[in-house]
Amino acid sequence: MFGLGKSKPRFQTDQELAQRVRNVVPDRVNGALEEQSDRDCPTQCLCHDVDQRRTAELVKEFSNGLVDKTEAVYVLECQWKTVPQRVVREELRLQNDVSWVGEAQKNQRLVYVGVSTDVPSRLLKHSLGRGAGANFTQMFPPTRLLSIQWFKHESDAYRAEELTADILRKETHSGVYVSQPG
Ligand SMILES: [Zn+2]
Repeated sequence: MFGLGKSKPRFQTDQELAQRVRNVVPDRVNGALEEQSDRDCPTQCLCHDVDQRRTAELVKEFSNGLVDKTEAVYVLECQWKTVPQRVVREELRLQNDVSWVGEAQKNQRLVYVGVSTDVPSRLLKHSLGRGAGANFTQMFPPTRLLSIQWFKHESDAYRAEELTADILRKETHSGVYVSQPG
């Protein structure tokens, strides 16, 4: 995933992309984290009875009906839980401990940033876990969608994913862990 867009020409500068992200995403994510306690299962959750229809409806709702096949950067809240390193190694089939699990667990809220051309299918994969989504969401399953931003070009979207994670790290409250893209 990571770096797929790297060799392709970019259409927007870092500054333009960062501005787009900054205008919308931190406020939305902070607001969503404040309005919902981490203990409750949210109403439109990604943790129970999730199917393609549910994720498609969710995506539509988050994009004012403007869903098309362009690239999207999305932000998820994930479930905080205790995962021993032994379980992480087994689940992810790794030889060594991974530091991000411990780092994530030091925080109260977990946020994942991803990029996809087909967000409904991608969200479903994150929800189903088991290697179909991403290592982070396999360990900390998503509970809800916080934000989606659409981009016309893959290269811009991949860069926007990195910028979104950087910006959220600086502009969310303490106690929020933002996953490393890629
Ligand atoms: Zn749920």
